[in-house]
Amino acid sequence: MLEFTKQVSMLCSNVSLHFINNLRDDNTHFAAECPSCGHVQITPLPSIDILKILEIGSGYGWFVEKMEKKGFSVDGIELGMEKSILAQKRA
Ligand SMILES: [Zn+2]
Repeated sequence: MLEFTKQVSMLCSNVSLHFINNLRDDNTHFAAECPSCGHVQITPLPSIDILKILEIGSGYGWFVEKMEKKGFSVDGIELGMEKSILAQKRA
């Protein structure tokens, strides 16, 4: 298993992510998982010029909330009725 020692988890700040698989973009980016919290993210992270993040399958909205606190503009989509209602109540 490869490790990305210089990549930082956006969720918990763990600095040792594990390679999952290649993305379909000329092998420029990879999916990587944090062994501490299980969060999966793209790596290397896109530049900080990101205008907006969209999380599909946002569950209760924990990731959306965390990224908003870090200053990103974030939207989340959740089809599960219970999770969606609770996420909206938290917002
Ligand atoms: Zn983590």
